[in-house]
Amino acid sequence: MSKEKNVVTLTYGCQMSERDAETLTEITRQEGYNRTNDLENADLIIVNTCCVRESAENKILGKIGDLKKLKDNNPNLKIAISGCMVQQPGALERLQKRAPHVDIWMGTHNLHEFSELLHRSDTGAKVAEIWQEPHETKESTPLAEKGKLQANVNIMYGCDNFCSYCIVPHVRGRERSRKPDDIVQEIKNLVANGCKEVTLLGQNVNSYGKDFVPPYDFADLLQEVDQIPDLLRIRFITSHPKDLSDKLIQAIAKGSKLCEHVHLPLQSGSNSILACMNRQYTREYYMSIVEKIRELLPQATLTTDIIVGFPGETEEDFEQTLAMINSVHYSQAFTFMYSKRSGTPAASMEDQIPLQVKKQRLQKLMSLQNEESYQLRQRMIGKCYEVLVEGPSKNNPNRLTGRTRGNILVVFDGPQEIIGSLVSLRILEAGSWTLVGELVESK
Ligand code: SAM
Ligand code: SF4
Repeated sequence: MSKEKNVVTLTYGCQMSERDAETLTEITRQEGYNRTNDLENADLIIVNTCCVRESAENKILGKIGDLKKLKDNNPNLKIAISGCMVQQPGALERLQKRAPHVDIWMGTHNLHEFSELLHRSDTGAKVAEIWQEPHETKESTPLAEKGKLQANVNIMYGCDNFCSYCIVPHVRGRERSRKPDDIVQEIKNLVANGCKEVTLLGQNVNSYGKDFVPPYDFADLLQEVDQIPDLLRIRFITSHPKDLSDKLIQAIAKGSKLCEHVHLPLQSGSNSILACMNRQYTREYYMSIVEKIRELLPQATLTTDIIVGFPGETEEDFEQTLAMINSVHYSQAFTFMYSKRSGTPAASMEDQIPLQVKKQRLQKLMSLQNEESYQLRQRMIGKCYEVLVEGPSKNNPNRLTGRTRGNILVVFDGPQEIIGSLVSLRILEAGSWTLVGELVESK
């Protein structure tokens, strides 16, 4: 009997990158590989990369370098590198020189070719295949993993926005929407395999369907997904503020499964920096959307992404970002120091901000947001929230965890049988990130 083959998939970056990693793992499952986390005994290691910031790239390069030892010990081990880092213009040659122990290189547009590339490498040949553009909107590989409670579902690929700091449109191509029927069918299949919650993914979900003739609205897609029996919850990311419509806010208010959580990246609170970023909205416009959300969805939580130290950012610009944190009351903010990305307009802008200043601003922003998050969670104490029970807590497997509709993590005591169901929890304690609750009732 031939030995079982093991695959380890390491993935970095956003949910879209995670979804790509799942596709690659599913392709290897169809090729007879078992998924493990055991690098020492792997026959195939896939590293699915991200290049949004330099820090992510450095970490990944370090990891790829570390894999050389494993390859030296086991020459039959195959190493495959995929994703955004490989797709960057001119990156392949540089990466191949730096990591000659890698067997397979592939970009973001040809993931579905992975099994063919795997076979081509059987002879020991080094394989590299990167498409400059997607040849067509390839359907996501359906996932067959059973009993997975939550799943990410791509509804579109690429981005047309070209924010001046961002590499994504350069490595993911132009926006392409998947057909509503294909998306609904994928979700029905996931639900048949036990999935209870889906997160619909796009770099700017609010422009979903604008590439169809006639155009199709994201809010209509949400209403269709809301009809799928046995699905309990629907989430979506990311909403670009410039395209968030009243119709979408109304759809969230109407849909029973649609969670009242909007991830609305601000990036900066200063109008002049927003203009240099090519974000196409002002702080006033952003605030007008926040007010509409607060009016129609009073329970909604808001989360955001913020960049500090964009070229030319003055102390006053930065103060305006802090002021937005004070006015919006985000439940969480993902905060980043601006990172120069070669080939983007911001990389050649004058007045790049020194690292020390960026670090100080990041610290200040994070401590303000931590206080906001803490206060917001404190206000939840004593109230009851609907939670989807996800499974044992990572820190204490004797307890359970789940998330509120607003995507806030709660830890609590309860029986294993309620995993996968909606329960009502009363909040007892709150820190900056996690809540502790007690079971009130199971639905
Ligand atoms: N499409 C999403 C949007 O428009 O908000 C974001 C996708 S990007 C993968 C996630 C976040 O990374 C962005 O919202 C931004 O805050 C951050 N980011 C992107 N490029 C960056 C850069 N060059 N330096 C620092 N942060 C960056
Ligand atoms: Fe990048 Fe802007 Fe597109 Fe988001 S919307 S992926 S930040 S270019």
